Amino acid sequence: MDLLGTSLLADMEGWTPIDKNTRLIRLDGPWLWNRLSWLSLAVGAQLFTYVRFGMDHPISGRTWRLFRGRSLPAPPAPQVSPPGDQDASLIAVRDRPRYFGFGTQLRQAIAIGGNSFWSIAKSWSGLTLVALLALGTGLFAPEYMTWFGVPLLARTQEVLPILAPPLSSLTTPWILIPLLIVFYAGELLWREREAGLQALFATTPVPDWVQFVGKFGGLALMITVWVSLLMLAGLINQVVMGYHQFEIGVYLQTLFGIQLTNYLLFAGLVFAIQVIVYQKYLGYLVAMSAYGIILFASRIGVEHKLLIYAADTGWSYSDMNGFGPFIKPWLWFKLYWGSWSLLLAVVATLVWGRSHDRRINARLHLAQRRFPRYKTALLIALGLVASSGGFIFYNTNVLNEYVNEAHQKRMRADYERRYGHYARATCPVLTRTQLQVEIYPDQGAADLRATYSLVNRSTLAIDSIHLSLVPNVVISAISVDRPASTVVLDEKLGYRIYALKKPLQPGELMRLRFRLQIKSHSFTNNGVDDAVVANGSHIDSNEWMPVIGYDDDRQLHHAQDRERYGLAPRPERPSLYDSRARYQTRHAERMDFEAIVGTVKDQIAVAPGALRRRWRKGDRQYFHYQTNAPIINEYAFFSARYAVREAQWVAPMPGAQPVTIQIIYHPAHQANVTRMMKSAQASLSYYTREFGPYPYAHFRVLERPGPGRGMHAEPMTIDYQEGYSLMNPQPGGLDLPYHIMAHEVAHQWWGITFAAAGVEGAGVLIESLATYSAMQVVEQTLGYGHLMRYLTQMRAEYEVPRSRAAPPLLRANNRFMTYRKGPFALFALRNYVGQDRVNDALRELLRKYSPNPPLPTTLDLYRELQAVTPDSLQYLVHDLFAANTFWDLKTQEAVARQTPTGAWQVTLIVNARKVVVDSLGRERYLPMNEWVEIGVVTPAGPGEPSAKPLYLQKHRIRSGRQRIRVILAGQPVAGVALQAGIDPHHLLIDPDMDDNVKGVKKQSVGRRRVR
Ligand SMILES: [Zn+2]
Repeated sequence: MDLLGTSLLADMEGWTPIDKNTRLIRLDGPWLWNRLSWLSLAVGAQLFTYVRFGMDHPISGRTWRLFRGRSLPAPPAPQVSPPGDQDASLIAVRDRPRYFGFGTQLRQAIAIGGNSFWSIAKSWSGLTLVALLALGTGLFAPEYMTWFGVPLLARTQEVLPILAPPLSSLTTPWILIPLLIVFYAGELLWREREAGLQALFATTPVPDWVQFVGKFGGLALMITVWVSLLMLAGLINQVVMGYHQFEIGVYLQTLFGIQLTNYLLFAGLVFAIQVIVYQKYLGYLVAMSAYGIILFASRIGVEHKLLIYAADTGWSYSDMNGFGPFIKPWLWFKLYWGSWSLLLAVVATLVWGRSHDRRINARLHLAQRRFPRYKTALLIALGLVASSGGFIFYNTNVLNEYVNEAHQKRMRADYERRYGHYARATCPVLTRTQLQVEIYPDQGAADLRATYSLVNRSTLAIDSIHLSLVPNVVISAISVDRPASTVVLDEKLGYRIYALKKPLQPGELMRLRFRLQIKSHSFTNNGVDDAVVANGSHIDSNEWMPVIGYDDDRQLHHAQDRERYGLAPRPERPSLYDSRARYQTRHAERMDFEAIVGTVKDQIAVAPGALRRRWRKGDRQYFHYQTNAPIINEYAFFSARYAVREAQWVAPMPGAQPVTIQIIYHPAHQANVTRMMKSAQASLSYYTREFGPYPYAHFRVLERPGPGRGMHAEPMTIDYQEGYSLMNPQPGGLDLPYHIMAHEVAHQWWGITFAAAGVEGAGVLIESLATYSAMQVVEQTLGYGHLMRYLTQMRAEYEVPRSRAAPPLLRANNRFMTYRKGPFALFALRNYVGQDRVNDALRELLRKYSPNPPLPTTLDLYRELQAVTPDSLQYLVHDLFAANTFWDLKTQEAVARQTPTGAWQVTLIVNARKVVVDSLGRERYLPMNEWVEIGVVTPAGPGEPSAKPLYLQKHRIRSGRQRIRVILAGQPVAGVALQAGIDPHHLLIDPDMDDNVKGVKKQSVGRRRVR
């Protein structure tokens, strides 16, 4: 079905670096057939047109001549009327009063509008296309309203983004509406001319603006009907999804406030283009080009929204925060673009052609004659464009610094170039953070006063303090508690150095104080900062707080960027064997934390630690938090009108102190709270038992505005966006919220208690171990069948075409490897050596861990896994982790027959080979002689979680084709087809999973006797 042949690009995703360097795009395979079939279709269409096209002029055609010859009378002879006859033919017309006032013009405009509307409505595509699309969008909601196979709750905030995509969105079926606007604008404007009535129409006593406004009004009315159909699509979607709380007000605001405005602005542009270009098909071409610029502006490097027609800084609607602070800049941008479309409309009216004369001169002459009448309108439009544009520019480029992508990268490059040599400067360690935070939700502002306690943990005296500030964050009143002078104060790149008069001696402590203000500087070209909002503030330390020393997280990582900005090449991540990188401990260091957070009286403010005290002062409410154990330097403040579900959890071991679990959520989003609580408790119990104690007295889970469905873990705190609470798992289906929760709780061990060195493979120690740990919790609480359902869903990603070339898992460098391949490798190993053995290895890894350098890497994990694996399976640990191994396993045939004793024997013919692929794509086949599962199963019936095995054993498998005979443990159910195959549970990494298992053929008893 690929018309343009671009599917080739998708296929090339699977090419290895060697392929990309050496392989040519060959005309073969399905791509060749695809090209051939489309090419022949195109040639066919051309031939058909050529053969059927009448080159003759219709008048001179034979049939026409025949027709004409018969029906057209000969031109009548000129008649000369006798004089005196004229009086008789006169008809007396009564002199009716005629009005040409505004009322008449309005009626004319309405008449033209109505007429235009109906001409679209009656055309074949005017209503039907949009109505069909709306119906499809509504009825097929269950097909797309899912996430990893889990249905979504069709709350209005979930449905709206589907119905109201931005004009610049390419990946939406609603791209249909702008295309229809382009088409019908041309049709309407050229209607009279195409009917040959232009001359007649031009003589009617209808002013130019009335025609323009009337036709535009007709199209606008049609767009309004289309938008109503969008709303209908949303309502059908919700009904089909079984959701019945229709928020009509939100629909009206979004669709008729936001989306209709966008479409009308676009229609204004297209109308003006058609009128100004004054040639229908050229007009289409220019209008489509203009739409192309809107669609691809960011890709051609146009970033400022003052330059992209109808652009805005985006909006979002959330149950927690409504339209939030996003709507104000939206309104300003729409006022600006509305003024432009008014200006375009006036210009279009000026050059509106009433005559046949298409020459530029004639039209300019006409415009000149009309100008005095439209002068005021033109001036008003110009004034509006200038004033609203000026206000926006003042906000985006004067009040705030205008930073485009290139500028941002250049700043990062400058930061590295100028201060990179301080990366190894000895810095004191942050041991305690004390904060006094005032959050003002209604003003979008916050005021933080911080005290950092810094200790010299090195063996050298430290004579200067380096500080990396987040660019554009206002920090004031920086002071240290000893005499010091400022050596470097770089506001632009955010770097400061204070020279201490008296150096900080080893073991000595000093304090650094500063004040940080979060103010809404109205809006930038990227919108508004949403850290502090009316309901659902979230101030993340990583985004705001200064870092002690040089911050290498801010460096450019991509090789291309580094080259472009003149930086020395550097691997995206330090090598696994880079021993110096194991001494970078900033993300592993621990500190005590204490904060007093104030907010408005009807909101709850949250920070890490136990709530020591809570009090009111005036119309504000204060919360004092303090941690009972040190945390890594990653934390956040939250403030919103929350509901709280609380439970106590006690570790299953003697003398354990109770831990308070709190789920702090938006009151309307309570659907998943119970399963979250269950998952948190089950996870804490499992991890405590298997890996070691949970260090804190609190565990909190908080909701914040936003569409994301994942969660984010910080010490003793997990936060999630609203999208998570809109997952709606069904009984018998995958309970993904439960699993995600278990994964995030696991991060309290993997990633927070246990911090890995920032080298290749770090993601395996954090994400793979968290996912693998969560799999054990899910298996233990929801059952093995549920785990299988989860694994099947996760394996779907294996089917995305991707290159087999990759480093081994120990040097994993992308999400696919750390979130999918890593957990699967651990799961495979678990199935070979046993769950307890793998847990022993993980526990040992944690036991040996220390936050002091050198920090652990995947090599430490590898060593522990080797230690728990018997010699006979050491090859497997190597194949799974230390090499990029694939197993091509295939069942060619499976035949069952009954033995004379009545038992059933299944004979399989399987093919096996093992290949190791390096990161360039070089393949090396290895001889196989290893254990692989052979299974015979009754497939899962409807409603059953997994297949029932009649046989499942590991067999010694060699490379190549081989025959295997197994005797089934039970009798196959009559009438149910058996399935048999090699590695039926896909423990080993096999890119082609579909051929592992085959249906079993039953050999009839009769034939056996004959043989
Ligand atoms: Zn994670």
